[in-house]
Amino acid sequence: MAGDYHALFRVVGDASTDNFGSDALGQPRTSGKLRPKRSRAVGRRCECRTLGCNSFEVVRVSGQRIDKETGMPDELDPAALEIISFPHPTLRYEAKLVRRVDRRLRDVAARMFELMYENRGVGLAATQVDLPIRLFVMNPSGQQGEGFESVLINPVVTKPRGNEEAEEGCLSLPNVHGNVVRAKTIHLHAYNLEGQEIDQELSGFEARVVQHETDHLDGTLFIDRLKEGAIGEISGELDALNTDFRSRQRTEAIPDDEQLLARLVKWEAAYC
Ligand SMILES: [Zn+2]
Repeated sequence: MAGDYHALFRVVGDASTDNFGSDALGQPRTSGKLRPKRSRAVGRRCECRTLGCNSFEVVRVSGQRIDKETGMPDELDPAALEIISFPHPTLRYEAKLVRRVDRRLRDVAARMFELMYENRGVGLAATQVDLPIRLFVMNPSGQQGEGFESVLINPVVTKPRGNEEAEEGCLSLPNVHGNVVRAKTIHLHAYNLEGQEIDQELSGFEARVVQHETDHLDGTLFIDRLKEGAIGEISGELDALNTDFRSRQRTEAIPDDEQLLARLVKWEAAYC
């Protein structure tokens, strides 16, 4: 039912403007923690017009967003998101329902599209960029400027019908491919970034992408759905990914699993 989304999550600001600060909490714009992100500017002059006021507010230093309140680098900077690879523990995390959409989350989605196109994907789930929230982006054409882009929030897949087998790959499992049986048609219920309800029957490739990405939000990877015996064929590639990841953890290029999962708490506090 249209309008019911408010029970699920709150849309803050207007997607078509930079109205980040004026959120549903009724706080004035200036209380917004962050300033719009994409600008290359590293700061802006105070606009108070007080004679002699020449204060300069730093909003970004060499690509890193600054939290206005603390003056420290913003830990939830969408621009800092990168695709994580197997066996990063967040890929096995059961993502939480999104309860708030704001300017930053829209920037998260934009960054996810950027990463998806750069890596020639057709879908990317939040858990693949180390976020614990139920959101994914997709464009079955895989080409920026072509096809149809969707941001799907709190997706629920029901009414699976028929079976179809096809080869899949995953941006978090480079060089790994395998045949997966998926439902041919599904029903998708989700919300977009504007809080509008999506209620749709999908089939074919689109249905496959939605099933693959929704799986990610439950911590399920396509390799979990390979036919018995097929996992043996890719064990070499999985071992290589595993060895690489664990060795980077040992050299402290990547924190240990416990620390990685502890990072998710801040995102959950902000959006779930
Ligand atoms: Zn994937």
